[in-house]
Amino acid sequence: MKILVINSGSSSLKYQLFNMETENVLAKGLIQRIGIDGSYLEYESGEGEEIVIEKDIPNHKVGIELLIETLISKKHGVLANMDEIEAVGHRIVHGGEAFAESTIIDDQAIKKLEDVADLAPLHNPPNIMGIKVCQELMPDKPQVGVFDTAFHQSMPEKAYIYALPYEYYEKYGVRRYGFHGTSHGYVAKRAAKMMDQDLSELKIITCHLGNGASVAAVKNGKSVDTSMGLTPLEGLVMGTRCGDIDPAIIPFLLEKEDMTPSEIDNILNKESGLLGVSGVSSDSRDVEDAAAEGNHQAEIALELFDYRVKKYIGAYTAAMGGVDAIVFTAGIGENSIDTRANILSGLEYLGVELDKEANDCRGKEVLISTDDSKVKAMIVPTNEELVIAKDTMELVK
Ligand code: ADP
Repeated sequence: MKILVINSGSSSLKYQLFNMETENVLAKGLIQRIGIDGSYLEYESGEGEEIVIEKDIPNHKVGIELLIETLISKKHGVLANMDEIEAVGHRIVHGGEAFAESTIIDDQAIKKLEDVADLAPLHNPPNIMGIKVCQELMPDKPQVGVFDTAFHQSMPEKAYIYALPYEYYEKYGVRRYGFHGTSHGYVAKRAAKMMDQDLSELKIITCHLGNGASVAAVKNGKSVDTSMGLTPLEGLVMGTRCGDIDPAIIPFLLEKEDMTPSEIDNILNKESGLLGVSGVSSDSRDVEDAAAEGNHQAEIALELFDYRVKKYIGAYTAAMGGVDAIVFTAGIGENSIDTRANILSGLEYLGVELDKEANDCRGKEVLISTDDSKVKAMIVPTNEELVIAKDTMELVK
């Protein structure tokens, strides 16, 4: 069975084509600058052949048509014809309270998605657009939606209700939803496998540390808390997002700097985090380089990043009444040796002991705690696309 996975953004679209018998990626790539001058499609076959097709791509429909043409092209393609694609799995950012699991998208599901689009105005509309275009181009193929929020729908009310007037939850759905759910769910499952134990008996803290970053408390296989909230802005320090701050800072700055709500929104989402504090870059590698050269703001930015994760680990250990494993994933979690070491240092009292040699590694699924460490620590490279493909296969089988 061949499944196409699509992550449709407003001006870009990522895709991967899976052969589900082997779980191999047959082809993958990216469409960039949709609706903007200089648009192009990047394509990489499973064998590693890479091509770039520069073409005017005014909208998602033209982009997905080009993508399908490439997949079936005689020269670079990996499919004999489009019919070989049995289903399409779509990454959807926000499922609100309507979607607690992956689902086949029918008219009713589209309607529900449009109802929650308010909660993710930048992400959900292009996600929905990707689905509609695929429905149009492949009318007899099932479309499946996999939601970033779904895994966290198991959180108890005390973890998701904000201490605001309750009417805002009732009227607008203002509550915590959490994101990166596909990743947190996947790495927790892998961690249980690595420990050769049942996920349903474990307390796991998963740290998804990428450009966007979040922590989740996964108790008995279910998310019971996570650091992102109504939007992905809450929680950890991120590449350009501030994470937790005193909300009173917002009216204070609005007044002092004479800003509009959208200007402050831009500052909190795009100009804060590692970038804002370091003044150097949102990319942790650049910040690490600057810190190594003695740049104080870069040093502080990294310390803040690590300290925030450490505090969440403490909080979630308390929330779950203990912890059996701490998992690191995504760009920084998988690759930054220092970040993992700094986060875990000082947590020996919880029973975590880092194996420095094992931690000296990047991007591999490995245990990084010592053999006799009571709490296990590990790196698990995330694979959200594979989860989307698997969920899609399960639903259409
Ligand atoms: P997202 O998917 O949220 O855009 P990623 O998971 O790709 O983000 O993570 C991006 C972050 O990971 C960047 O801060 C980058 O510096 C960091 N990163 C990626 N590769 C490495 C590496 N080899 N060493 C250190 N950090 C890395």
